[in-house]
Amino acid sequence: MDSQPKLHILFNRQEIEAAVSRLATEITRDYQDKHPLLLGILKGSFMFMADLIRRLDFPLEVEFIGLSSYGKGSQTSGKIRVVQELCSSVKGRNILVIEDIIDTGLTVSFLLDYLRKKKPASLKLCALTDKSSRRRVPVTIDYPGFTVPDKFIVGYGIDFDEKFRNLPDICFLEGEEQC
Ligand code: 5GP
Repeated sequence: MDSQPKLHILFNRQEIEAAVSRLATEITRDYQDKHPLLLGILKGSFMFMADLIRRLDFPLEVEFIGLSSYGKGSQTSGKIRVVQELCSSVKGRNILVIEDIIDTGLTVSFLLDYLRKKKPASLKLCALTDKSSRRRVPVTIDYPGFTVPDKFIVGYGIDFDEKFRNLPDICFLEGEEQC
């Protein structure tokens, strides 16, 4: 990739706001009496999490976990591991996992299995973007945001080599292919 990659907007900030608002309404309907623990996967979910919880007007807690599935660049290593552990207990809690993007599904499947072993009261998944055409393992997204085409996306918290997280829109990088 050259030093000045071409960015194209896929979902602009107004569309993102509308999607987050819709998801917040659905989550409020299901969780307002459940004191859930919203568990964001670092780092990509931080902006989505921040916008989402501002729209949730009921008691909840926030936690993050660090997983590694991709090395540098856009190619999956296929290997997932916990790189930053949870601080809160999961046992008996209503857990809602907050993810930025589901691609092959390997990362979130690993996490859901990992969390299930810790015996939560309930476990559901909210994902802002879903690249369903690239799925390698089945994943049920309880609260889906956008379906995205098979392109490498950045912005709104999502990076390429740690860059572009600060873009307010979700964009795709021209010429950046995935494997
Ligand atoms: P999966 O395990 O579902 O293949 O991948 C999930 C992770 O891969 C995401 O959390 C994200 O880190 C990375 N990923 C997958 N597709 C994209 C993409 O289009 N752009 C970026 N920046 N990361 C992606």
